[in-house]
Amino acid sequence: MKRTIIKDLLRTTDYGAHALVKGWVRTHRSSKSVHFIALNDGSTIKNVQVVADVEKFDADLLKQITTGACLSVEGLIVESPGAGQSVELQATKIDILGACGDDYPMQKKGQTFEYMRTHAHLRLRTNTFGAVFRIRHNLAYAIHNYFHEHGFFYFHTPIITGSDCEGAGQMFQVTTQNLADLKKDEQGNVDFSDDFFGKPTSLTVSGQLEGELGATALGGIYTFGPTFRAENSNTPRHLAEFWMIEPEIAFYDINDNMDLAEDFIKYCIRWALEHCADDLEFLNKMIDKTLLDRLHFVVDHEFVRLTYTEGIKILEEAIAAGRKFEFPVYWGVDLASEHERYLVEEHFKKPVILTDYPKEIKAFYMKQNEDGKTVRAMDVLFPQIGEIIGGSEREESYDKLKARIEELHIPMKDMWWYLDTRRFGSCPHSGFGLGFERLILFVTGMQNIRDVIPFPRTPKTAEF
Ligand code: ATP
Ligand code: MN
Repeated sequence: MKRTIIKDLLRTTDYGAHALVKGWVRTHRSSKSVHFIALNDGSTIKNVQVVADVEKFDADLLKQITTGACLSVEGLIVESPGAGQSVELQATKIDILGACGDDYPMQKKGQTFEYMRTHAHLRLRTNTFGAVFRIRHNLAYAIHNYFHEHGFFYFHTPIITGSDCEGAGQMFQVTTQNLADLKKDEQGNVDFSDDFFGKPTSLTVSGQLEGELGATALGGIYTFGPTFRAENSNTPRHLAEFWMIEPEIAFYDINDNMDLAEDFIKYCIRWALEHCADDLEFLNKMIDKTLLDRLHFVVDHEFVRLTYTEGIKILEEAIAAGRKFEFPVYWGVDLASEHERYLVEEHFKKPVILTDYPKEIKAFYMKQNEDGKTVRAMDVLFPQIGEIIGGSEREESYDKLKARIEELHIPMKDMWWYLDTRRFGSCPHSGFGLGFERLILFVTGMQNIRDVIPFPRTPKTAEF
């Protein structure tokens, strides 16, 4: 008999037919005459209830039906008398595929997320992580769908990069050299000519620069891949390895870019509401009772758009009125998460897109404004999260871009190919980066970014 996925079984009305399911025991209880087994196969948050008459099965077999055990169950599909489920399975045959002892670490309910992180290999089998990773899949699918439907091309940028000036964060080096016996020149500098690529290389912190090469040829592209930042940020919003989505579009100015960011992120959230209703309902009940309200709220409201300078003014007024912040606020400061969240959660009570940041706190490639002080940057700020998207219109003038590169002492020899886009048929263009895990944090209501990626990499942690 062919296996039926539990998600499909729970939708059937084929009462009286036989079905075969396989999965892991979530809970089980027994009376004198029957065993009730809640079986889950990962296809849905919902379990199927298996009913096993004690007299039909060997006592030794029934004893092996413990939390975490893997079973194969054949049975009769019957209408369920229980509330909240329409189908249950009256077992005719049970096989223990994998027994599970009482030292199973995911046994108890209500274990902390910290504990579960130390068992990341098994936490996947819990309700919460099942829900999170089904939603993660659905969001990835939504992202590809959105861009494909809108005529963007999925563009693969390199993971290993030879330029050390992507400008987005500390990089991890990539080398095949024997670190215990490094070849050095007379000045004591490491000689990379023998290294695999014959020069220093690192893991990418962003696909943007190569993404711009794609956009100025294909029109609209997006990347969706892993990025790596060796920043020692032990926060609930930073990972050393995370996934980023970076659209880059020729002929877009910053307003087009903001429209795209807002439409895109709302599409993803709407997609989750439509396709992950069971999982979201579970998370809303167990993790965060305001989750569904917040998701609907973001989808239904226009984001507020204002300049960094206006944002600073609002924060200064709040401080004058007695609001306390941990970090200082003044024009020129890189806003901290507490400032971003004040604007979003307390002042506007809506997502905010902040634009026109001081050039000193933003990357070299952003389009310079006429005031000589600010650049056409845009950050999308979300409740609970703070910055979820960072982007900008790009500087398309060869002279201005080159001058900025020189001003910041970025090694030009690494940048010749990037500057070529401005030498040969330059065009206005824009793009942004969305941190995939920050989006999942928002959509799931989870509190820590380590709990929305299956195997998190953070400072001092690379287990599993
Ligand atoms: P932050 O100020 O929060 O560190 P950033 O300004 O360094 O972010 P960008 O370089 O603009 O971020 O990257 C684009 C997006 O990637 C961010 O808006 C965020 O969603 C995400 N992101 C950045 N750094 C991380 C990280 N270490 N872990 C997870 N997501 C990240
Ligand atoms: Mn950062």
